[in-house]
Amino acid sequence: MVFESSVRYVAEMIIESKKTVALTGAGISTESGIPDFRGPEGLWKKIDPRLVTIQSFRMFPEVFWYFIAERFESLMKAQPNKAHYALAELEKIGKLSSIITQNVDGLHFKAGSKNVIELHGNMREAICMNCSTIVPMDEALKMAKRNYYLPMCKSCGGILKANVILFNEPLPKEAIEKALCESRTCDLMLVIGTSLQVYPAAYMPAIAKQRGAKLAIINMEPTPLDDSADVVIHAKAGEVLPVIVGIIKEKLMRAS
Ligand code: NAD
Repeated sequence: MVFESSVRYVAEMIIESKKTVALTGAGISTESGIPDFRGPEGLWKKIDPRLVTIQSFRMFPEVFWYFIAERFESLMKAQPNKAHYALAELEKIGKLSSIITQNVDGLHFKAGSKNVIELHGNMREAICMNCSTIVPMDEALKMAKRNYYLPMCKSCGGILKANVILFNEPLPKEAIEKALCESRTCDLMLVIGTSLQVYPAAYMPAIAKQRGAKLAIINMEPTPLDDSADVVIHAKAGEVLPVIVGIIKEKLMRAS
């Protein structure tokens, strides 16, 4: 009952909002078979996070590629789930301005969303550490396997890195500026599938709230911002978002 009224409340908030922005994290992709970091089945229970710092990549790039190559191959086959499609639909009907995502899996784009800000880079590409040439990931993976897990740039011979942001690496300037701008100018932020423990992404809802925006959190587990949110739904994004979008479409249709 509480769940149903919260879902209806979020739908109302979106209908009334002039500018809604979504912040998504690894939790939105777990229903696509991609594990998150800190959830119950999280990746940190299997991989040592020290492997994915920029410092360890600079010292031992072949260790990174060795551990990551097969994993990336399977992640690249992942498909969007109902939650990704629901957000794409929300944008299509003009009720979602943008998605700020911490995810590198590209599933928002695959689902058809257009205005996606990828704060932590993406795994579609690799980038040369020396000359910044971009190479498609499947090409980099083939090279890694052929060359003792050390893919090299064809232009300058530099080492290729997956175009994802590793720990201790700065975020892409353009993405962070866009995300800040969206957070400052929205009047509603949907926070979906993130533990809100990775910064600066986790600042975005606080910035939005500070500027007077409402916050709706949809996450399986409690987050540090639950107390300051206007509504919190502890449930699966793939179960909640399609219902919210369904209610919105029905109401908009009736009103037209
Ligand atoms: P996180 O692992 O810290 O938190 C994920 C949260 O999502 C958890 O609180 C969990 O309870 C919740 N969750 C899990 N499944 C859910 C579901 N079906 N519906 C709703 N909530 C669900 O992830 P984070 O906050 O995004 O931060 C971790 C970092 O991990 C980010 O920097 C991100 O770049 C990276 N990451 C990305 C991917 C990906 O691209 N898919 C996967 C793993 C990690």
